Amino acid sequence: MIFPAQLTDGVSRLPLSATSKTTRSSGEERPQAGPRLERHCSVRKTVEIVLDSWTFLVVREAFFGVRRFDKFQSRLGVPRQTLSSRLAMLVENGILFSRKGVVARGHEYLLTKKGKDLFSTMLSLMEFGDKWLTGGVPPPLTLIHKTCGHVCHPATVCSDCRAPVQAIEVNFRDGPGAGFSPFEIRHRFRRSSDPALLERVRPCSVARSLRIIGDRWSFLILREGWFGVRRFDEMMEKLGISSNILADRLSRLVEAGIFRKERYGSGERFEYRFTEMGRDLYKPMIVMMRWGDRWLSGGRSPLRLRHRRCGQDFEPLVVCSHCGDEIAAQDTAYRLTYEID
Ligand SMILES: [Zn+2]
Ligand SMILES: [Zn+2]
Repeated sequence: MIFPAQLTDGVSRLPLSATSKTTRSSGEERPQAGPRLERHCSVRKTVEIVLDSWTFLVVREAFFGVRRFDKFQSRLGVPRQTLSSRLAMLVENGILFSRKGVVARGHEYLLTKKGKDLFSTMLSLMEFGDKWLTGGVPPPLTLIHKTCGHVCHPATVCSDCRAPVQAIEVNFRDGPGAGFSPFEIRHRFRRSSDPALLERVRPCSVARSLRIIGDRWSFLILREGWFGVRRFDEMMEKLGISSNILADRLSRLVEAGIFRKERYGSGERFEYRFTEMGRDLYKPMIVMMRWGDRWLSGGRSPLRLRHRRCGQDFEPLVVCSHCGDEIAAQDTAYRLTYEID
């Protein structure tokens, strides 16, 4: 998924400044005939699972240590039926497993290895939300890295040189899982993108980030943006999206500070370019991609990332700002800056 227009050296680069009239994806021409196709994308698959508002909230509470149906229900104020369907989906997708309660009667839901591995996605979204979306007040949650004993902030770094990843320093090319599949928008749950749900009960930097990318069309527009698609007509053509939906999502993304609108040519024609904040969204996107590569694409990544700073292929790692080690869910504690019962 995601990223920049193609350069002639076979390794593409630069999400942000390439002047691409012809937007080409990762090395491969888009097939012309037949049904509309879209590129294989591990992030898209991840988004389909995680970005449903209720699903996300259930996973978040599981990271906070909630295991039992009643507790999920009281924490989230979620209708039983809704909670049942989300828990079933998470079990079906191998993110949670259920077992007979050890302490109390009834079932418990616990994160699987695959589920626990979503922690870095959560942290990366938190990194973004803490930086851009707290409105000048301290972040709602302070993370403590138990391994080193310090308060830490998540930081997304290159697995090879351990320097922080910046969008403009990443090239991409096709990986072993590259290709195209028929385009479809799936709606698993009718109320899936109700943004008002996301901060129910807890203020949350992750939830704030999801309000921006959690809508599926917004996500697809952002993805085209990283591939170098900037113009309204071009987006419409690539996505098969109606002009009013596209206009609506673009104006929301401009309002949220992700895109800035720039006039080009003569008349009322505009391009949508990432702001500094928009560029920063790249980090959670590639962290989601890594999770999707690992768990949903059978390890066959559709895209390979290269860090231009060190010249190596890399994976994004989410590490502790204090000691630089990767942060695992079980090694963290937290302090909340708000009350919860
Ligand atoms: Zn590097
Ligand atoms: Zn640490």
